[in-house]
Amino acid sequence: NTGDRVPALIIGSGYGGAVTALRLAQAGIDTHIVEMGRDWGTATSGVFTSTTAPDKRGFWLRNRTAQPVSHFMGVSIDKDIEKYVGILDAENMGGINVYQGRGVGGGSLVNGGMAVTPRRGYFEELLPSVDSNEMYNVFFPRANAGLGVNNIDTAWFESTEWYKFARTGRKTAERSGFKTVFVPNVYDMNYMKQEAAGSVPKSALAGEVIFGNHHGKKSLPKTYLGQAASTGKVTITTLHRVTKVVPSGAGYSVEMEQIDEQGNVVATKTVTADKVFFAAGSVGTSKLLVAMKAQGHLPNLSGEVGQGWGNNGNVMVARANHLWDATGSKQSSIPTMGIDNWDDAGGPAFAEIAPFPAGADLFISLYLAITKNPQRAQFQYNSSTGKVGLSWQASQNQPGINMAKRIFDKINSKEGTIYRTDMFGGYKVWGDGLTYHPLGGAILNKATDNHGRLHGHPGLYVMDGSLVPGNLGVNPFVTITALAERNIANIVANDMH
Ligand code: FAD
Repeated sequence: NTGDRVPALIIGSGYGGAVTALRLAQAGIDTHIVEMGRDWGTATSGVFTSTTAPDKRGFWLRNRTAQPVSHFMGVSIDKDIEKYVGILDAENMGGINVYQGRGVGGGSLVNGGMAVTPRRGYFEELLPSVDSNEMYNVFFPRANAGLGVNNIDTAWFESTEWYKFARTGRKTAERSGFKTVFVPNVYDMNYMKQEAAGSVPKSALAGEVIFGNHHGKKSLPKTYLGQAASTGKVTITTLHRVTKVVPSGAGYSVEMEQIDEQGNVVATKTVTADKVFFAAGSVGTSKLLVAMKAQGHLPNLSGEVGQGWGNNGNVMVARANHLWDATGSKQSSIPTMGIDNWDDAGGPAFAEIAPFPAGADLFISLYLAITKNPQRAQFQYNSSTGKVGLSWQASQNQPGINMAKRIFDKINSKEGTIYRTDMFGGYKVWGDGLTYHPLGGAILNKATDNHGRLHGHPGLYVMDGSLVPGNLGVNPFVTITALAERNIANIVANDMH
């Protein structure tokens, strides 16, 4: 409520926010999270919309769906919907659509659960200021445990019809000499086996993923946020969007808009906080910080704020297999395997073998490639609109495409197969206009000190994907979680007395 004073306010309830809340609460600090999305709860039916025919619950404040794989047989599969505070945001940032989760739990509500610890050598190259012994001995293990990361039973993987698509993806990759690897996940793999056996309600095996998941996935409300709630020290206020942070006495005054389920602003509130933790995600945090600096509210922020953004080299692509390389009419929505071509000096890439659960065998292999695309963009304030944009141009994804082609051109030529051109609109082969992995905008040890303290304004911290230089080589949430664990341990020890 307006006029309240709180010791710690966290903006956003994704990975960075959830870790911060738990560790502050465990240190005895009253902690308040402000989240602009809704609380989706933990009920096990009727909450989330279906994957194949999403309604308003699927998308954040749009009049039309924006499916990542937007076309089939060349025809758009998007349709009109009511504007609602739905779970998946397809935020148009000029040259790229940035997909993000909205609600208590942030990206954990919508993501594929792939839980990958990055290669140590590359992590050290990327964040040389971080003590990697400490990361790999303490904080990556802590994050994996906190998130509930587990592995698929490989014997089951080899035999179940639900992963035929992945075995076909592996076989065609290996025939071209590529290495494949199993990928850990936060989806409860024992639960999935029971789904296959028919003894529990289906979730991954009912295609649920990007619009929410009723069972099986250990999203943040079931892990970090659940634990945080049980301390009794954490309050979450939903449907409130932070719009302004300004110094006020020894702390900060935080302005927010309360919105209704159609996104209309119904109230404006101001509270005071001793410490403010930015955990609104790479885009959310960067937009806020760049606006606050440009508008003179946080004038001492470093010029590094808004810099170093990347799309984690994301490009999607699909191949048409021969009729003898079926991918199965039954497909689990949870990916568990990737093609690892990161050692290819001519174009490092790691490609997730993604499901395409359409209910019929379409002989399609779909991939989400994470490439070492070095291109970066900046967030910039536009003083005439008062909005923050991103400088990313569509053409900046060409290096990523070139890197992914080193895998898939080779497979196509070996197999005598072709790319599908009917899935991303306009006869496009590459899904290059979107990312699931926004990273950067407040890079660790540049915009902040080596533990996420923003330069120039003591008591302000960055805790989310904004800290990670735009290109991690693997899916990002384990790294975001582990860095948050590392930084909050240091902040609790030194700043919270
Ligand atoms: P987020 O999780 O994005 O959380 C930020 C939160 O802040 C959101 O809940 C948002 O609503 C809230 N917020 C934003 N602005 C404001 C504001 N002004 N006021 C109040 N609240 C605000 N990663 C993986 O590692 N493995 C995967 O398999 C994987 N699959 C993915 C699939 C999809 C479809 C998507 C979209 C992402 C996927 N990701 C995956 C990426 C992963 O989910 C993100 O990297 C991760 O969620 C980022 O964490 P974060 O803490 O930086 O922010």
